[in-house]
Amino acid sequence: MTIAQAGIKPRILVIAAHPDDEILGCGATLARYIRRGIEAHGFILGKGKSSRFANPGNSAETIQKEQDILLEEAHKAASIIGISRLSFADFPDQRYDSVPFLEIVQRIEDMVEQVKPSIVFTHYRRDLNLDHRITLKAVLTAVRPLPEQSVRHIYSFEVPSSTEWNVPLSFSPNVFIDVKETFDQKLAALQAYESEMREYPHPRSMRAIEIIARRWGTIVGKELVEAFELVREIK
Ligand SMILES: [Zn+2]
Repeated sequence: MTIAQAGIKPRILVIAAHPDDEILGCGATLARYIRRGIEAHGFILGKGKSSRFANPGNSAETIQKEQDILLEEAHKAASIIGISRLSFADFPDQRYDSVPFLEIVQRIEDMVEQVKPSIVFTHYRRDLNLDHRITLKAVLTAVRPLPEQSVRHIYSFEVPSSTEWNVPLSFSPNVFIDVKETFDQKLAALQAYESEMREYPHPRSMRAIEIIARRWGTIVGKELVEAFELVREIK
């Protein structure tokens, strides 16, 4: 990484809207850099997918129980990847537009201030999921390039079942990371997220995740790749 050459200690912060987005988006890339001694932290803005459980048949206890399981899964997945610390905010699932934007920005600013990352991985600007789009906007606001800003590189990842479900299909990656050596860790982390995974051919199935990585791989002559859109780089 070029920032290492510039004498800045690289540190990664992944900022995701929901538990599992961080692994789907960049799990194998994180594992790859962690293996090389780079510290990675995770910040997830919502604790769970409450909207999915919010049907009249589900009691408050059932919803709480499901969310507890999801949090447990998130921590397990983080430890499989080697993420140093996973933190959560508690913004309401699928309703980030009901929260004052500044509140989301401030939570991210606080986390950036604590972690002082040089690299941020976050959502793609044209995901179908509104929480994802708000997250990207909030990240860009929180890490605006002021002189004291630690963040030098911002990358958008794709989240299968959101990035490709908007129209027109527009994700146009220009950064391809070879994750052959750590792809198994990504799959294991996704297995930990049992409650979030689906059956093939759903895009969030184990087989589809592998197909996507192989497809990006074919573009750059590699076997398994995670692809990103570079949002900003300051050198
Ligand atoms: Zn999400």
